Order: sequence, then structure tokens, then C-alpha cells
Amino acid sequence: MSALAGVLLAAAAFVVMEGVSYLAHRYVMHGAGMVWHRSHHVPTGSRFERNDLFPLCFSTVGVSLFALATMGPAIGPLLWVGIGVTAYGATYLFVHEVYIHRRLPVRVPPLAYLEWLRSSHRVHHRFGGEPYGMLLPLVSRASRERAAADPGAVDPLAREARPGSAVRAGRA
Ligand SMILES: [Zn+2]
Ligand SMILES: [Zn+2]
Repeated sequence: MSALAGVLLAAAAFVVMEGVSYLAHRYVMHGAGMVWHRSHHVPTGSRFERNDLFPLCFSTVGVSLFALATMGPAIGPLLWVGIGVTAYGATYLFVHEVYIHRRLPVRVPPLAYLEWLRSSHRVHHRFGGEPYGMLLPLVSRASRERAAADPGAVDPLAREARPGSAVRAGRA
């Protein structure tokens, strides 16, 4: 496989991962996985959340793809899929943990795209529903207006206090 085809395959895997991540967030994390994910929507008072176990689990996908790619030339292109999946995971980590929730003492200058992601993710934390996507979070105009009209007393993205989360009230 040529390097160009490999890069295109990695880019395609990256794009597909946004859909996979949407489905995982909506149907796994806000489904049976709520026993872990709830720790991300309510104050825990701890540096770590039980929710951090999810990326640990998801990283096995990339590791498995890299391991499989070494098993023969026929499945060698899986290396590029693994690169795309891992790049998505790293981007998610940066956007969600570093930029949006500021879990590391790193100052990142505000960018219009990242600010859009933050304001969209704030709606997810505010109401515990859409948008579940991270890099392409589609929020209806009605939800944005509802969030703007009822911002709550505390920013639901603040790590110390997430009292506005509808999840806390039991609505997952
Ligand atoms: Zn969530
Ligand atoms: Zn979040």
C-alpha cells in the first residue's frame, strides 16, 4: 500500500471514529456504562474519575490494530487504521480533557473551533443529552437557546461542581 493510500485510510478511520464515539457516548456511556460515566457528570472531589476507565478500554482497539497489522502483509493496512484511530483518541483527549475540562495545568489559547466545541459540550453537561459528538457536535437551535436562557448558577464544565447536570437528577 502506498503512503498516500495509507494516509487516506488513516484519515477515513479518523472521520469514522467520530461516529463510533458518538454511538459509544450515547448508547454505551449513557446506557449500561453510566455506572462509570456518571462520575464525569457529577462532582467527585477527586482528580480522577471512574469515567477515565473508558479511554483505557478504548485504547485496546488501537493496540489490537497495531498488533494485528504485524501479522502479515495482507492485513498490514490495519496499521494505518490504527494510526487514524489513535490520532482520534489523542485529539479527543486534547479537546475534552485538556481544552474543555482543563484537567491539566496547560493554557491553550482560545480558538473559534475549540470554543464552539466547548459551548456545545456545555449543552451536553447542562442537560445530559445531545450533543454526544465531540469534534462535530450538532446542537439544535432550540437546545442552544434553552441553555442560553437557563445557564444555571455554576458552569457545568467546572470540575469542582457540576450541579447543573440533568444526569444527576436521574435523567440519563
Ligand atoms: Zn456524557
Ligand atoms: Zn465532558
